[in-house]
Amino acid sequence: MRTHTLVPSLLLLGTLSLTAACSAGSSGLSGTASPDARPGSGPGSSPVHGVDPSKIKGLEIVNDSSEQSSCRFATSYPDVPGAGAMTAAMKKDVEQRLTTFREGACAGGAGGELNVSHQFLVASGDALGVRLTTQDGSGAGSGLSTRTYWYDGKAGTYRTALGLVAEGSRDAFITALKDQLRGREGFDGTAFDDTFSDPASRDAALDDMAFTADGGLRVGFDRGEVGAPAAGSYLVTVSKKTVTPWLSAFGERAQRQTMAPSRSLDLGAANTPAPAVPTHTASGDDDTDCKKVTCVALTFDDGPAAPETATLLTYLAQYRARATFFTVGQNVAAHPDLVRAEAQAGHEVGNHSWNHPDLTKLPPEQIASQLARTSAAIKAAAGKEPTLFRPPYGAINSTVRAATGLSPVLWDVDTEDWKYPDPNKVAQTVIDKAQRNSVVLMHDIHPTSVAAVPQILRTLTARGYHFVTVSHLRATL
Ligand code: ZN
Repeated sequence: MRTHTLVPSLLLLGTLSLTAACSAGSSGLSGTASPDARPGSGPGSSPVHGVDPSKIKGLEIVNDSSEQSSCRFATSYPDVPGAGAMTAAMKKDVEQRLTTFREGACAGGAGGELNVSHQFLVASGDALGVRLTTQDGSGAGSGLSTRTYWYDGKAGTYRTALGLVAEGSRDAFITALKDQLRGREGFDGTAFDDTFSDPASRDAALDDMAFTADGGLRVGFDRGEVGAPAAGSYLVTVSKKTVTPWLSAFGERAQRQTMAPSRSLDLGAANTPAPAVPTHTASGDDDTDCKKVTCVALTFDDGPAAPETATLLTYLAQYRARATFFTVGQNVAAHPDLVRAEAQAGHEVGNHSWNHPDLTKLPPEQIASQLARTSAAIKAAAGKEPTLFRPPYGAINSTVRAATGLSPVLWDVDTEDWKYPDPNKVAQTVIDKAQRNSVVLMHDIHPTSVAAVPQILRTLTARGYHFVTVSHLRATL
């Protein structure tokens, strides 16, 4: 049996922080201070009717992320059955940005952070709209860009934002945008004319459009496209009355479904069975005494994910092992049933922010909102608010601590499973490094990490380990 070491206990008590390591190289994310620059809450987010993504049949969220302070990225986009061409467009954009970031900022050790979060704009009838918000802190400028993607279920076609406006009306629409922008602080008429004289740059500038709840069409311009306001980016809304005659047939349907969502989304996908959700139920409280036996806390971050989390729950149940899930709010919203299943099976559900930004780079009100929004989603799913949070990248400072009542949890065994998609390597790392009272970091968004779990449970169980939640470990130490 291994000896008890001091380090895991310190980590558990939250007295050892990674602040120094993580605040170094804090370049690039200056744009996050402006209201429009909040990841996951890009232009036009507030006036739109809320879409409940858990109602979208067969929805999967495609996640990728690291948990390392030297290479901070978290990306997500939805994969909706029937909208394959739209998913392919998002996948291409996200993978391109991620590759550039990993080959540049990560490999060069330049620091910075890449965050791509998603938001549903409409998911009703035959209209689907999604906005991706990218915060790229590896370069100069605010690094914030937004783009909306559309799927026309009636035509079975992916459409860009400009596809909301009829081709013959685009010149009139652009003139209306210029009229509204004229006089705005920092607006550059020459830059506007340059951008709109070339079809390719015009399409790129008009890549973020969505309807407001009252039927207006709101256009978001990334900083620099038509000028540079002192803070944030330009948002222009063309009223319903003005814009309606200019809309394409799909634009009209998307407008109608945004204003009054009529029914569930139906893109004509042939077969979208909901993945099975395990129904294990914990038999009462865990009475493991970690003073007497060897305990270890497995923690799984960034989920829930379908179908990986469901598979993991089945493995854990086979060994009567309990674990802690640090869930990301935008994934909780997509898969509340998996969060409910985690809680019912006796696992602990913790908070890992809404869309995985480095919290130390955000102002206090955004830190609070990232965590409060996620706690609310967890409570709605599992019936109980979390008491623990894990800061993305382990990045924490006094501002983050002051912004929440949640207790921070770091880790002492890092599998680096985001970097090594190899079940044997991941399992071996845990088996070699886990000590009594260790907190082990893994991610249930990766099928290879989940595949490593049976070997971990089998080997460590044979060595006398007991798998408990973080709160249980803290309470019995
Ligand atoms: Zn994470």
